[in-house]
Amino acid sequence: MQNTEEIWRLVDASKAEFEDLSDRVWHMPELAYTETRSCAEHTAMLREQGFRVTEKVADIPTAVMGEAGEGGPVIAILGEYDALPGLSQEAGVAEQRPLPGPGFGHGCGHNLLGSAAMLAATAVKDYLAANKLPGRVRYYGCPAEEGGAAKGFMVRDGAFKDVDIAISWHPAAFAAVQEALSLANTRIDFSFAGRASHAAAAPHLGRSALDAVELMNVGVNYMREHMPSDARIHYAYLDAGGVAPNVVQPTAKVRYLIRARDLVELRRLIERVRKIAEGAALMTETRVEAKVVSGVSNLLGNLPLERAMQSNLDRLGPPPFDEADRDKAAEFQATLSEEDIAAAWRKMGLPVRKGVPLCDVVVPLDLKGAPMVGSTDVGDVSWVVPTVQARGATYAIGTPGHSWQLTAQGMLPAAHKGMVHVAKVMAGTAVDCLRDPALVEAAKADLAARTEGAPYEPVLSPDVQPPFGMSTAA
Ligand SMILES: [Zn+2]
Repeated sequence: MQNTEEIWRLVDASKAEFEDLSDRVWHMPELAYTETRSCAEHTAMLREQGFRVTEKVADIPTAVMGEAGEGGPVIAILGEYDALPGLSQEAGVAEQRPLPGPGFGHGCGHNLLGSAAMLAATAVKDYLAANKLPGRVRYYGCPAEEGGAAKGFMVRDGAFKDVDIAISWHPAAFAAVQEALSLANTRIDFSFAGRASHAAAAPHLGRSALDAVELMNVGVNYMREHMPSDARIHYAYLDAGGVAPNVVQPTAKVRYLIRARDLVELRRLIERVRKIAEGAALMTETRVEAKVVSGVSNLLGNLPLERAMQSNLDRLGPPPFDEADRDKAAEFQATLSEEDIAAAWRKMGLPVRKGVPLCDVVVPLDLKGAPMVGSTDVGDVSWVVPTVQARGATYAIGTPGHSWQLTAQGMLPAAHKGMVHVAKVMAGTAVDCLRDPALVEAAKADLAARTEGAPYEPVLSPDVQPPFGMSTAA
């Protein structure tokens, strides 16, 4: 108990600087792989706090790592700072009001995500020093969570190879340990090449790449009936072969996003989609090339770490929101439908309660909510290091992810309280790992058991490079 209170005090001692850091990053929203200013803010703060800094982790210009302490174990706390397009919004206002500028906004709360993670790492650093304990704590500033899979490239480059435990969190409506339910995915571009010709005068001489893409899509849509029900496939046309219907389309390109429960299922599905693409090329006498753009692994849970984190949360209780916080959150709830709000409770497996604008509970570990069917690049870290994540309550219950309402709430007092609260949960869990070698061993044994017979084989092959230009391409 004494350790717990000490680490909470250390979080409180540094919180003001990190609330400011979060607010500064909120004001400079930057998209995946272009987070130059946000990363510079994080780098400067790491230096100010006395961390040993490594810039450009894995040769990614906007990835940074700071380390403190000596010896082992090594505890990594992961942060992010990328924003989203189309989600610019005036702060604190419960009415859609985009700010002038390029329209970017922190609609996923990553301004808070990075700051709370570094706040936790700072408190753990101070704890190690005050108690003269062996062990190292690292903060990883990870860019491009939104579609850029940066952590996958960082894992591939060995950035986590000597890490014993990884801890992270995500802004949410409720305080909880995050269930490990996310899908592995990959984006693959299929480019077809045919032969142009006059579509009326010499149609027999043309070979249409657009036909090939359409036949490929038909084939994949027929396959849906025969794939695992939790898998997902979506596609978008990147090139439909031009704007002239009287020219047989010589090129066409389609991007597939394939998601599956785990890497084994994903690989099977990728093989089937590739066969369909080849079949479409065969049928149309065109050629096809497939290029992997990005990929992430599914998340692996870790029961010993989840239990340790839950016990920290239970001791801490819900975040200390007050009446003013609840009134403000109620304004945002008034912009949502009852269905949005009810869905948020159900997602956590909790009974729906009306008139509760902010989290006032700690969600128990054994509640089973609706599975998340998105994907995250934390998945790749969880295959190589025992990993645990918290949900930190930072916004009104029912606020949709990636929304202007979420951007608007990113600097409110409730958001600050939520980020300090979750920093305590993460720092407390880190201290448990530093104090208790048996917990670290149990976490490693849990990971070994989960990957037995199916070791980590990343979706990203060695030739795939980080998509640095993804946010600047028209
Ligand atoms: Zn996010």
